[in-house]
Amino acid sequence: MKPETTRFAPSPTGLLHLGHAYAAIFAADTARASGGRFLVRMEDTDRVRSKVAFEAEILDDLRWLGLWWEEPVWRQSARVADYLAALERLKGLGLVYPCFCTRKDIEAEVAQAAGAPQGPDGLLYAGTCRVLGDEVRQARMDAGASFAWRLDVARAASLAGALSFEETGAGPQGEHGVIAVDGLTYGDVVLARKDGVISYHLAVVVDDADQGVTLVTRGHDLFASAHVHRLLQALLRLPVPRYRHHRLILDANGKRLAKRDDATSLKVLRAQGETPEGIRARLGVTSR
Ligand code: GLU
Repeated sequence: MKPETTRFAPSPTGLLHLGHAYAAIFAADTARASGGRFLVRMEDTDRVRSKVAFEAEILDDLRWLGLWWEEPVWRQSARVADYLAALERLKGLGLVYPCFCTRKDIEAEVAQAAGAPQGPDGLLYAGTCRVLGDEVRQARMDAGASFAWRLDVARAASLAGALSFEETGAGPQGEHGVIAVDGLTYGDVVLARKDGVISYHLAVVVDDADQGVTLVTRGHDLFASAHVHRLLQALLRLPVPRYRHHRLILDANGKRLAKRDDATSLKVLRAQGETPEGIRARLGVTSR
């Protein structure tokens, strides 16, 4: 087995629950079993929702679980210059465009377009701002209109050519092995929001490359995003990790655990006297 570098990348916008515990243990155990490195990264690009207090609790919970990681813990909030540099490269390739649409505009378009194509996160953006002329764009910018940056995925996919990624676990439909990339999966994804926040998709590929992550482990819910990530890796000429998506931990009703639902938070379970071994047993992962 070759040594793998894995990471656990929580957003410090709430407490860890059993689903996060599973993801963290999965990543740490995978790295450890291969004799590799386990990293922790705080995905705190959203400065409004991210809280330093949550970050401290997350690290405390991870230590309590018996996990250890290579220091330092990276924070995405400290890496904005690198993300902006990547965005500039994509601009230089003529692959991004400013999108002035408001949420209302997008909803109205969607309501009009019966049978509009669906993506993993809902209806796909219709591309209204993709076709604006340079003069219109400039005039709107000059008038101070706020805008997001979107990736022109059709153009990006044709520039990148045929791509694939390697799934060493399984996607939600049991997808496994070499997966052909469908770069259009999410439509023209936002890379930088109107408020300047860099999107998850862009930040994650830049970080995984800069941290030398060789095996991305995470839940099924993020399987579809690997298509966009692989496309961005090709455009930015980044090294390509392999992927291992894993099952999600569900509640008694078969629903995904949510951050707002405190009942399964590690903090509450710890206060109730649960042990790290007990957590592993609940999650069906063998103790080390
Ligand atoms: N920050 C993401 C989350 O909390 C994980 C991202 C990833 O593992 O790629 O769900």
